[in-house]
Amino acid sequence: MNREKPDTGSTPHLRPRIIRWVGWDAGVIILACAATIMIGVHFDLIERFYQFSRAHDDWELDEFALIFVTLSVAGLFLAIRRFFQIRREYRLRIEAEQKMADLALNDSLTGLVNRRAFLQQLEDRLAKQKTVEHAVVMIDLDRFKPINDLYGHDAGDRVLQTVALRLKGAIKPAGVLARLGGDEFAALLSDASGGEELDRVVTRLQHATEEPVQIGSAICSVGASIGVAIVHPGQTATVSDLLKQADMALYNAKRGGRARHVYFDEEMNRKATKRSRLEMDLRRAVDDDEIQPYYQPLIRLSDGGVEGYEILARWRHAELGDIPPEEFIPIAEDAGLINPLTRSIFRKACEDAREWPDGLFMSLNISPVQLRNEGIVEDLTDILGAFGHPPDFLEVEITENALVEDTDMAKQVLQKMADSGIRIALDDFGTGYASINQLRALPFTKLKIDKSFITSMQDNLESRQIVTAVLALSQSLGLACTAEGIESPEVAEWLKEAGCGMGQGFYFGRPGRDVLKTLAEPGASESAARLEESMSDADAGGGRSAPDCQATKT
Ligand code: C2E
Ligand code: CA
Ligand code: CA
Repeated sequence: MNREKPDTGSTPHLRPRIIRWVGWDAGVIILACAATIMIGVHFDLIERFYQFSRAHDDWELDEFALIFVTLSVAGLFLAIRRFFQIRREYRLRIEAEQKMADLALNDSLTGLVNRRAFLQQLEDRLAKQKTVEHAVVMIDLDRFKPINDLYGHDAGDRVLQTVALRLKGAIKPAGVLARLGGDEFAALLSDASGGEELDRVVTRLQHATEEPVQIGSAICSVGASIGVAIVHPGQTATVSDLLKQADMALYNAKRGGRARHVYFDEEMNRKATKRSRLEMDLRRAVDDDEIQPYYQPLIRLSDGGVEGYEILARWRHAELGDIPPEEFIPIAEDAGLINPLTRSIFRKACEDAREWPDGLFMSLNISPVQLRNEGIVEDLTDILGAFGHPPDFLEVEITENALVEDTDMAKQVLQKMADSGIRIALDDFGTGYASINQLRALPFTKLKIDKSFITSMQDNLESRQIVTAVLALSQSLGLACTAEGIESPEVAEWLKEAGCGMGQGFYFGRPGRDVLKTLAEPGASESAARLEESMSDADAGGGRSAPDCQATKT
């Protein structure tokens, strides 16, 4: 791997060769010896010493000379040995320092530049190369975690090394590639000579992550979401600006369905500002139990009777008005608010449902992120128990994406839920990636056909064919089926004839705070009459009282 060598700051070419070879101290000693020999030769010192010792024979100077020469030879031998020891220690120290510098700047698994070195290079380029375009490309692998969980960390490491190598190939001929940590990579492309060239490199990076990777006998493709931020020549941007923008673009790529690359634009900045304000307000709204449960009836298609209600969260913001769940649920998921939000509306719904007639059930939407935490099952059963509802009063709806994100954990949590008696429906069926295997292996009791197929059925043959196929599939797997998004009597009739057991949609009733008001639509008059009848029966029997909910806007 091509490791970038750090500049140690030394200037070896300025030192004389002898000093470079032996070091300063040994060099000084050698020079001193040479000077001594030259002085000795010049003044003929040995000859003089010989004559002096002959003149003073009784002083035994020759014995002293012998001792002196012997000690000098021994000293020289020890000095040479020590000299080589010191050289070896010096070399080892330089190697260790080099290794430390490498570790400080390179990622040990992939050999790529690490986060610290990447930020340093980005800072240098932004400061020194102001007349060229720089692009920061954030690359986040989409399906790495399941590989790690399923095949173990060694396999995960090999996948990261393979992807790193492919990204390195894709970024050529120029550019810095770094592993920022986990399954996050980043590239710095400078002077990509215009948008088209940059786009070509980014597309190559995207494809590099999609190439299949062999793990034992399995072949997987990880894929990646990519965010790109650009600073044009003459513009000024700090490292943190550029990283923030690339992160925002990456976030949009992920939210847009992953496996794509998105370029940062100012609109994202505006949305992000609004989003962070909404996040703050949502935190307070959840704390103050401001999010309300609304109820949409689930209708038995054979006779129009109400079987239960789906709980749909509603938030009326004091200044911005009604915020749709499609806007605030993703914020709650990202901000770690989805569990308290779900508990809050479910507690209210369980309280409201104490007034409902017997025989109805409620259906609660659970986000994919909530299946990463087994505690959700206790949360739900505790709340059900606190209001005297049995576990089979509750059906949870999860979307297909929940199964893709973390299969093993999701499976465990779903099994625990099913074991506790809660029923599980697969929501928005047909829009995700659930496999027939998952449908068989996981404890689902129901499929909910996504409303996009139902609302388009009347003028789209393909939608009708998909609905027919899903109904056949649910029958053969022994699963109940609900069609959502029924807006007309014709569609309701068609679905009933095709063998669909349950339906939900504006034709039968819109979501509302008050269960009776939710049935004010034409198709639901029969259902409303039935429900009212059963409620007055319950009243007469002294059982449950009539619902006491304020009718807010539906
Ligand atoms: P979903 O679970 O698929 O809920 C059904 C959505 O379809 C609801 O939108 C409902 O108002 C709408 N709908 C019902 N009948 C019809 C119809 O006949 N035609 C059309 N066009 N639409 C119909 P809503 O309430 O805006 O909720 C949107 C999504 O937000 C939900 O889709 C669900 O995924 C999510 N959501 C809502 N409440 C919660 C919640 O408490 N927790 C979680 N995790 N997600 C929630
Ligand atoms: Ca749902
Ligand atoms: Ca749905």
